[in-house]
Amino acid sequence: MNSILQQDLNDFDTILEKTKQQGIDFLNAIENIPTSNTYTIDPKSVLNELGLGSIEALKEFNERLAPLMVSSSGPRYWGFVTGGSTPASIVGDWLAAVYDQNTQAVKAQGGASAFIEFETIHLLLQLLNLPDDFLGGFVTGATMSNFTSLGVARQWFGAQFGKDFAKNGISETINILTATPHSSSVKCLSLLGIGSQNYTTVKTIEGNREALDIADLEENIKQLNGKPFILISSAGTVNTADFDDFEAIAALKEKYNFWWHIDGAFGGFAAVSDKYKHLVKGWEGADSITIDCHKWLNVPYESAFFLNKKEHINLQIETFQNSNAPYLGNALENFNYLNVLPENSRRLRALPAWFSLKAYGKEGFRDIIECSTALALHFGNALIENDFELLAPIRLNNVCFTLKGEHNQEKVSRFLSDLNDTGKVFMTPTVYLNKKGIRASFVNWRTTENDIKLVIQEMREVLSRI
Ligand SMILES: *Cc1c(COP(=O)(O)O)cnc(C)c1O
Repeated sequence: MNSILQQDLNDFDTILEKTKQQGIDFLNAIENIPTSNTYTIDPKSVLNELGLGSIEALKEFNERLAPLMVSSSGPRYWGFVTGGSTPASIVGDWLAAVYDQNTQAVKAQGGASAFIEFETIHLLLQLLNLPDDFLGGFVTGATMSNFTSLGVARQWFGAQFGKDFAKNGISETINILTATPHSSSVKCLSLLGIGSQNYTTVKTIEGNREALDIADLEENIKQLNGKPFILISSAGTVNTADFDDFEAIAALKEKYNFWWHIDGAFGGFAAVSDKYKHLVKGWEGADSITIDCHKWLNVPYESAFFLNKKEHINLQIETFQNSNAPYLGNALENFNYLNVLPENSRRLRALPAWFSLKAYGKEGFRDIIECSTALALHFGNALIENDFELLAPIRLNNVCFTLKGEHNQEKVSRFLSDLNDTGKVFMTPTVYLNKKGIRASFVNWRTTENDIKLVIQEMREVLSRI
């Protein structure tokens, strides 16, 4: 063994102890760590001939790289849809690295950690009130989850014409209908060879809605003259957290032949609360569902899962199987994750979610969801009282707003830039209804009313300066 590695092995206790202490120091200070910073480095460190050892590497990290870290998992990072990490999720994440399994099979020599992933999916289905007829698996994020499900949808589409697109390439025009797809779904159409422009936009419901208009959807379906199609629907659009009408879509599925995909990256968690579960009523009828864990489940990046109906398992294997040989035996019995999703080698990505679900239970997550939604409303009210206006009603946890008055439109970008520069809060710019807007998303388990008070004060100050 290399002598520096040997030294590290001897010092393992001390190294991990120091790392743990550093983690505690960061997490304990997270409320006061800025959400943005202007620190930069010249990212061109020389690779030394002799290694430094972990302790020295940690020192260098602390001196040069740690100052780049912002409090993205803190209580006032409201940009994008950014979750945090609960204590239990960090336990799971650390242990995933410690055990370092290559999670693939449930029945094989050389590891069976996929059982843990199966169990985690089973727990998640219970949290989301979904039936057990979905096959689920972990991927890095909702983008890859959309990719996995839409990949199977693509294979399903070919099968309607007796074709195997995975083997022979796409030889039919694939019909995609959607109203307000997340940009990542559009990216998936590009990755899947369908083409990022090759979808039909269904009208949205009139009156400041992002949900698809069911009558227009049916009109578009009729124009396909009985041809199959893929529907990409939304459980929570990113700007205004709007939901498509899943009961109406389920009814259309009785009449027409289509693959129904739901992107519920964050909005799927509406199912956890009695106050919001009506938003996803009927979603169990979908062929596939995307859910992110590194948003509202508050586990560290990278974590999301796909849910595809088990009845489509053969299409899923045709899409992702890791060889050209026909799949032998019963697909579920000889199950191996590498045959149903993009990655071959994969870490035990389910573990942070497993720990979180066990540690906090249904009530813990119901509390997080209901706290986030209450805070979104609270923030919305405070905005209205303070020279801002909402661009859309607050349906769940995302607040889309702007400076009050048309004449202030030109100031929106500068206002947001100055506000983010304070490092006290981070929000993202958006354009909604042709207006420059700002989006704040509440998903972090640490956020409290006091954070809102603090941010409103900061916003007033910035506003008075510009
Ligand atoms: C965040 C998000 C995505 C993309 O998720 P990643 O985890 O960033 O890959 C997809 N769809 C919706 C609705 C989202 O909010």
